[in-house]
Amino acid sequence: MEKIRMITPLVEMDGDEMTRILWQKIKDKLILPYVDLKTEYYDLGLKYRDETDDQVTVDSANATLKYGVAVKCATITPNAQRVEEYSLKQMWKSPNGTIRTILDGTVFRSPILVKGISPSVRTWQKPITIARHAYGDVYKNTEFRVPGAGKAEICFTDENGVETRQTIMTFKGEGVMQGMHNTDASIASFAHSCFQYALSVKQDLWFSTKDTISKTYDHRFKDIFAELYETRYKSAFEAAGIEYFYTLIDDAVARVIRSKGGFIWALKNYDGDVMSDMVATAFGSLAMMTSVLVSPNGQYEYEAAHGTVTRHYYRYLKGEETSTNPVATIFAWTGALRKRGELDNLPDLCAFADRLEKATIATIESGKMTGDLAVLYEGEATKLNSDEFLDAIAANL
Ligand code: NAP
Ligand code: MG
Repeated sequence: MEKIRMITPLVEMDGDEMTRILWQKIKDKLILPYVDLKTEYYDLGLKYRDETDDQVTVDSANATLKYGVAVKCATITPNAQRVEEYSLKQMWKSPNGTIRTILDGTVFRSPILVKGISPSVRTWQKPITIARHAYGDVYKNTEFRVPGAGKAEICFTDENGVETRQTIMTFKGEGVMQGMHNTDASIASFAHSCFQYALSVKQDLWFSTKDTISKTYDHRFKDIFAELYETRYKSAFEAAGIEYFYTLIDDAVARVIRSKGGFIWALKNYDGDVMSDMVATAFGSLAMMTSVLVSPNGQYEYEAAHGTVTRHYYRYLKGEETSTNPVATIFAWTGALRKRGELDNLPDLCAFADRLEKATIATIESGKMTGDLAVLYEGEATKLNSDEFLDAIAANL
């Protein structure tokens, strides 16, 4: 059989521990036999990040800016224990943080649904994708414990030294206060990413904040989204037959629970943090969550939402059998291959990505799955180890 050809390479970011082991197996068993795979390879495994003083992470992000599509394996974010375990020169920063800073992107997370593992919310039939703004607000705040009676003020000093001052509260006793911010530039990037992602997956986009209470702060988010929609995206949305709408977060929460799913829900930083955990849990398992970072200029980096599955890796090193779920990592590959196929106009590559996803889901729906899913499955489940599960997918494929 002739292999499916590619034109532009994918940026391949290898990673750590159990997911690094799965990474190679996925390529060997599910991709390389069918695709004449072209990648520009970056080893983001912790050892090589340390050897290169983390330059490899920066290089991989710059390559993503150049080529437009990357696929990333989970990586260790070092803490004190990892510094010792790997004898690191220093406690390197989170690769995802470094990549996000360079691409200036928004992270979209969506669950992979299979029959036999029902969401806790009965009406949900299609995935709900959460788009979380990953800059500012309470995550970059200044907080203050108020020791006793006194006046709390908020003050902005412009470049000419002119002050604008407002009283927050005249305290009669102890309390707390905080200051936080966001920037128009970051909000606009977030909005561009959301509109572009909605167009790329052809799904409605919902955006919600608490603008009735936060009449200036949250209202600014609402206005920036509305202005960009009207001036830049409206006609493309209409042509794609999809909708953008803004609604108050209280209303959005009620609508989400009553919905059938199948849309993107854009949220401010804190709301996205909380709601993504709720949505992921209600859909089933972290091992079935995909994640894609989309830059405002339309670059895409695909990955699994979970980490390197350290506990399984230590068992693997002892020679024990592991049943680690490769599905989210497989879908990172299919997402990247499909996007590459779309950009390079390679329908065969897109069709291959579709088939691999179908084969993966069909395998689970036939009752063959890894241990994490077997405990959730409503039918008769056969628990397979990682290799057996990948072989079953390959047979279906
Ligand atoms: P984790 O790797 O997501 O694993 C937490 C637990 O969730 C596992 O021990 C396992 O539970 C279950 N799990 C997660 N993914 C699974 C899969 N594919 N198949 C089966 N079970 C799965 O999170 P962690 O243990 O907190 O973090 C481990 C390392 O990953 C850390 O060094 C962290 O820095 C890194 N990390 C990286 C990323 C990223 O690169 N995007 C994200 C998060 C964490 P059981 O052990 O009960 O089976
Ligand atoms: Mg959270």
